[in-house]
Amino acid sequence: QRIDFTEFFHHVIDRFDMNKREDIHFERYLPKDEAIVTVDQDKMMQVLDNIISNAIKYSPDGGTIRFRLRKDSQKLLISISDEGMGIAHEKLDKIFERFYRTDKARTRKLGGTGLGLAIAKDLVDAHHGVIWAESKEGRGTTVLFTIPLNRKRGELR
Ligand code: ATP
Ligand code: MG
Repeated sequence: QRIDFTEFFHHVIDRFDMNKREDIHFERYLPKDEAIVTVDQDKMMQVLDNIISNAIKYSPDGGTIRFRLRKDSQKLLISISDEGMGIAHEKLDKIFERFYRTDKARTRKLGGTGLGLAIAKDLVDAHHGVIWAESKEGRGTTVLFTIPLNRKRGELR
């Protein structure tokens, strides 16, 4: 489907905003104009759901989650940042593996199976995008992914 990712992203954030814990704050840095892309909307919803659920789950009380969308001539860059416990540098790639959960996540009894980001990676791959994470331990985590623009119809795997 051809969709306006700006509007779609607002819609997904709105849904989380209505149901989230009171103590978490959202900040949006989205463009005012449209960002038209060809994506499978259900799959993109799943990608965003998995990343945003983690950002909320691993946020401290009073934490702020920042949503960003940027567009260049080649791609959209979407990022979601939290102020949570962060992830050690050497584990930043592993979190996209099936069933991988950091010791911190396991010991803090925050439920989960370790599948959310592996699924998100499969879905971003299917859109010919790239997904990765950046983090400062103890300060927060940013998960970023790209969606290429100008793909012709039928190129979605
Ligand atoms: P599930 O998503 O299947 O319910 P999960 O959240 O543990 O379980 P993933 O979403 O795949 O699994 O994340 C894998 C691991 O990466 C998590 O267990 C956690 O250790 C780490 N992680 C993911 N997102 C964050 C984040 N925002 N802050 C800190 N650690 C994170
Ligand atoms: Mg998860």
